[in-house]
Amino acid sequence: MGLDKYGVRKLRKGAWVILSKEMQFEKAARELYEMQLNEVYPLVATQAGALFPSRMRSQVEDFKGKDIISPFIKEVKKYGIRVHAWIVSLNFYNERFMTENKELYVVNKNGVSCLVSPSYVSQYKWLCPSRKEVKENLADTFLEVAERFDVDGLHFDYIRLPDILLPIGLRGAYEGVPKEDLLQPQYDFCYCDVCRSRYKEETGIDPINLKYVEPDYGRWFRWRADRITEVVKNVYKKVKHYDLSIEVSAAVFATPKLSYEYVFQDWTTWGLDIYNPMIYHRYYGQPTEWIGEAVREGVLRGTRLSAGVLIGFMKDQKDNYNGFKAALDNGASGITIYAYPPPKPEMKEWIRHAFNTLEKEYHIES
Ligand SMILES: [Zn+2]
Repeated sequence: MGLDKYGVRKLRKGAWVILSKEMQFEKAARELYEMQLNEVYPLVATQAGALFPSRMRSQVEDFKGKDIISPFIKEVKKYGIRVHAWIVSLNFYNERFMTENKELYVVNKNGVSCLVSPSYVSQYKWLCPSRKEVKENLADTFLEVAERFDVDGLHFDYIRLPDILLPIGLRGAYEGVPKEDLLQPQYDFCYCDVCRSRYKEETGIDPINLKYVEPDYGRWFRWRADRITEVVKNVYKKVKHYDLSIEVSAAVFATPKLSYEYVFQDWTTWGLDIYNPMIYHRYYGQPTEWIGEAVREGVLRGTRLSAGVLIGFMKDQKDNYNGFKAALDNGASGITIYAYPPPKPEMKEWIRHAFNTLEKEYHIES
């Protein structure tokens, strides 16, 4: 929980919001308010493209020329709800962009581009963080959103490389993925020309020749995590230069350790204002209480975080309350729900109930 400028403890109560053309924004805003939320993370740029006419990222075909972001923001602002624009960053499978920018996509240890052989799912088309064009495109996308919309924050998602390891609970879902923590070349990115030559220049080693267990491999692993960090810090610097009051946050993997080892996110060093770790317990084969453990690990690294909770994993109202409580008991500044609209309508009441009860128990003003 954070202290606001009057020294009053306030809970961050948020949700990632999946906007669609069908959504009735007036109704959605009222529901979000009734669920007690004080911040939302509407999706403004997806893997398939921007949801508004963007100069930086081709727009999703269905939305051509339409802007559904502004009317949504207008409605939620009537309730005093803060808005963080949710931007899918490095996973980008827009057909037009891929055709025009093949060389910007990551390459695996077998030397094969993700455009030819994506790992796990066909949408796994990822931009390489070492590329100057990628770094600039992402920073410009963030600035474009900041200039165009009335936002309080900007939010990274998919700011990582493809999973070199999948969460344990997901490994059975894809053919050929080993159950144990085994690194394999087809899931190991990025070995594009730029990554290889930059690394070779710096260390004298061509990383494609490294084995998974040898003294030099960890340094190469670290180097790639540092490329993601570099991209994040560049965006952060530019956003703050544009407007210091805009909060910058990121959806990251559940814990600092899992984030680093599975997807090269060294997020505790990124220096962002707030993190929203996706503590989706069942993906890790864990019970609800694990949300608290994961929060603790992040908080002890000195980060401020709002725990990402996958509402669809909650069994009932009590289970949901227990999940929120575990996060707050371990130092979370709040909760970010994945997602609105929830999979079952009764979950809106579970959320309202949990926030109401916990604010009373913690003597927090709503
Ligand atoms: Zn690369």
